[in-house]
Amino acid sequence: MLFYRLKMLTALTPPFCLLMLALPSVSLADPPKSSGQNPVIQEILLAELADDENVEDVERSEPRREPPDTPSVEAVPAAEEAAQAPKPKRSPKPKKVAPNIDLKEVAPAPTPEPPKDPAIQESPGTEEPVVVADAPEDKASEPEVKGPQPAKNLALLGSEVLPGTSTRLAWSSGIQIAGLSQPTPVLVVNGVNAGPTLCLTGTIHGDELNGIEIIRQTMYDLDPEKLSGSVVGIPIVNLPGFQQGSRYLPDRRDLNRHFPGRPNGSLADRIAYSLFEKIIRHCDMLVDIHTGSLKRTNLPQLRADMNNPTVAEFTRGFDRMAVVHSSGSPGMLRTAAVDVGIRAVTLEAGESHRIQEHQIKAGVNSLTSLMEKQGMISRMFVWGDPQPVYYNSAWVRANDGGILFSKVKLGAKVSKGQILGYVADPITNAQYPIHSNSDGRIIGMAVDQVVMAGFAAYHIGTEAKVPGE
Ligand SMILES: [Zn+2]
Repeated sequence: MLFYRLKMLTALTPPFCLLMLALPSVSLADPPKSSGQNPVIQEILLAELADDENVEDVERSEPRREPPDTPSVEAVPAAEEAAQAPKPKRSPKPKKVAPNIDLKEVAPAPTPEPPKDPAIQESPGTEEPVVVADAPEDKASEPEVKGPQPAKNLALLGSEVLPGTSTRLAWSSGIQIAGLSQPTPVLVVNGVNAGPTLCLTGTIHGDELNGIEIIRQTMYDLDPEKLSGSVVGIPIVNLPGFQQGSRYLPDRRDLNRHFPGRPNGSLADRIAYSLFEKIIRHCDMLVDIHTGSLKRTNLPQLRADMNNPTVAEFTRGFDRMAVVHSSGSPGMLRTAAVDVGIRAVTLEAGESHRIQEHQIKAGVNSLTSLMEKQGMISRMFVWGDPQPVYYNSAWVRANDGGILFSKVKLGAKVSKGQILGYVADPITNAQYPIHSNSDGRIIGMAVDQVVMAGFAAYHIGTEAKVPGE
């Protein structure tokens, strides 16, 4: 298989339960009961309302333009807007130094936030303050090869993460009852050398689990003393959704349609705003990790707006990952991040509610490759310098309701007219074949299930021109 050729991550077998241990085990209060409606029906309605990037957003994408000869200047106004946008508030008071925690060791979970106090609102970090005598300076002053610049402190969530250290911080969106507030763990590795800040977000949809493990394996393999730049990982952004096995927030909204958020908007707006202001604006690069939804599975792939030259260039770092053009929907984290000048893509891998080793491995490999390409780490890649494969894509829908049985597998090459699967009517015994509408590759598909007419069943990618060539 395409993605499994890299051999350098074999040392990654710390227990998976680690992250789970790091999570508060207390369950959130149920979402407000409203009007006695059947929750199952509401869930279905939501599923229809909340478009998924897998289907409608890709369909609505503007067609990919041929790469222009000269770099587009479209990104510039957005960057200027970003410059005028409110900057993250910097507290003038001295910040506490984040403790240096070896992320390879199992450490205690972040402690819950103390009751809300305006004086500490900007300091949600909850670790015990640590004296600077933790001696990272000594490490920083060790002789370095080839003159990389020493890093500075990384100021995040009210803490200063010193160069050459890693730590766990906590982000709280402030929407919960203060006394019951559950902070969301944030892993930070600040390298000993200067470089870009890469942010990794997972489980914005609370039922999408592969990203949690992709972030754990990626970050826990980093050595701050060999890192240039910093990596910030939020394995479980939507903690309430994760605890309830739900894609959505407690107010039944899709968080990934509310970025960059508003401080006075809906609950989803406020959570989005908090995450965006407190963390995302500190990132130079962002990879937002998702899976297929609604019983669909995705070949590991990037979703990227290939009409944006900066984003298109960014995708080149991801090894031999499939890259699917999608201009994205308003409110998505990646589009909001790109709008303020952050290089951002969505990484899709596998299906929701599952932990899938092969998909995780592909994700970890591509992120490791990205960090190497960005000069953040240096590793021996056994297989050289492969490039991503670019796709345009379209969905094939079921035209009949019934039970879907697929004849093709994820990743299969298909040709136009080929039968991809059947929908069987369980009562009449009618069999309705579903045909491919183009030559290409199955980059996403529904798992076998009951479907209605119109259900998006197969996502066919057709190879596209590599941007800039
Ligand atoms: Zn998702």
